[in-house]
Amino acid sequence: MHTMNWEVVIGLETHTQLSTSSKIFSGASTAFGAQPNSHTAPVDLALPGSLPVLNRGAVERAIRFGLAIGATIAPVSIFARKNYFYPDLPKGYQISQYELPVVVGGTVSFVVEEAGKATIRTVNLTRAHLEEDAGKSLHEDFVGLHGEKSTGIDLNRAGTPLLEIVTEPEMRSSAEAVAYAKALHSLVMWLGICDGNMQEGSFRCDANVSVRPVGQKEFGTRCEIKNLNSFRFMQQAIDYEVERQIALIEDGGMVMQQTRLFDSDRGETRAMRSKEDAHDYRYFPDPDLPPLVIAADWIARVKAEMPELPSVMRERLIADYGLSPYDAQTLTASKDTARYFDDVIARLGATHAKQAANWIMGDVSAAVNERGGDWSQPPVDAPTLGALIGRVVDGKINAKQGKALFAELASSAQGGIDIDALITERGLEQISDSGALETAIDDILANSLSQLTDYRAGKDKLFGYFVGQAMKATGGKANPQQLNALLKAKLAG
Ligand code: ADP
Ligand code: MG
Repeated sequence: MHTMNWEVVIGLETHTQLSTSSKIFSGASTAFGAQPNSHTAPVDLALPGSLPVLNRGAVERAIRFGLAIGATIAPVSIFARKNYFYPDLPKGYQISQYELPVVVGGTVSFVVEEAGKATIRTVNLTRAHLEEDAGKSLHEDFVGLHGEKSTGIDLNRAGTPLLEIVTEPEMRSSAEAVAYAKALHSLVMWLGICDGNMQEGSFRCDANVSVRPVGQKEFGTRCEIKNLNSFRFMQQAIDYEVERQIALIEDGGMVMQQTRLFDSDRGETRAMRSKEDAHDYRYFPDPDLPPLVIAADWIARVKAEMPELPSVMRERLIADYGLSPYDAQTLTASKDTARYFDDVIARLGATHAKQAANWIMGDVSAAVNERGGDWSQPPVDAPTLGALIGRVVDGKINAKQGKALFAELASSAQGGIDIDALITERGLEQISDSGALETAIDDILANSLSQLTDYRAGKDKLFGYFVGQAMKATGGKANPQQLNALLKAKLAG
């Protein structure tokens, strides 16, 4: 137990790899998984005399991001050299942006679920800047020329374009930080600027964490946990770090500003180095690159090609269809789920949007996950699902039949099914004809005299027995509401 109340303060820096096919300052390929050092131009190898040329596609993606979050796109921004020594950085400096980044300000909003309640939060961004990635040191299983244990350097990743996205220190819990990171992840994929592949390092977060007594104005000293490449690790790392800092301070110690690493096997963070300050990097404008000038007409062109944004669509689903923030967030988690929902509604009609949402987040989602989670190839196409839900809501088939039909369609994976023809062919139409239902009920009651006596003597539970018998007699096709009403009336005598 803590001896006082603490407030957690978190700011995130996220490196998103931009999905250009060539590098940010050279023509070499950015493809993942190639033979070490096969995707390297002279610039990536820091060969003398080679000069960087900025990739227009990387800038365009940064503009797209800036527009999506309502940021200012800097009319002029500057590339700077960030100097440090490391074997995977042959130039001895990383080209980044420092004083004048390309994207300034903006906000990301998202739904956080805490204590069973979903609320919309908005986090302010400080900036987003373009930079190049470094290479990789291969420490494991690498053998040198003479069989000795060595570390290899692979420069395929050197020069891969990154957009580093920095938030203000505004998050107050690990849940909020993870919700922000998930929203950012789905946003960059939605915009088509990053493939979002976290295993391959296309989206990785550094979490800056500090604590302060509730009510204190100044921030506490922070630690930065580097390279979190899964949301679960982010949550664990922040929770561990918060507890570590509180315990340290309550024991009379002080938090040292540090860069730390998360060890996922042990679930703890470990000091990597004491934090360097900006002046340690000797930033200065890169004389090899002119200022990046972005004219208004370039911004206008990018704007004209922007898709509807997930936050805008989320608001539309809440306002037009009356969906809850949670449902709206789930349905807009990716462009594929969002498009699927819109296509189902196009067939089904807006009045049944809630039913469509329930189907998509229930049976469809389960079927998609069973098949590996790819929403671009849903197991039942949107028009077919729209037609199927339509037949359930208009009572032609009951919900149970609808689910069974869905499961069957999902496993046969054919497109363009004529649902009405299939229902007729199978004889699945719900029996809503009260005459037919009454006859079936009369038969059952006549053959269940002892149950009937027990029921009338107060054994209410037997109601289920009668419903079951009637469903069996009608091949599962009875309209459930109607059946219940008729049964109640008959049983009352
Ligand atoms: P650096 O460039 O050295 O990493 P910045 O000042 O740019 O440092 O901040 C990096 C990140 O740390 C930002 O996301 C910011 O919001 C966050 N941050 C700054 N101070 C604190 C603090 N006291 N506690 C938690 N996060 C912080
Ligand atoms: Mg940092």
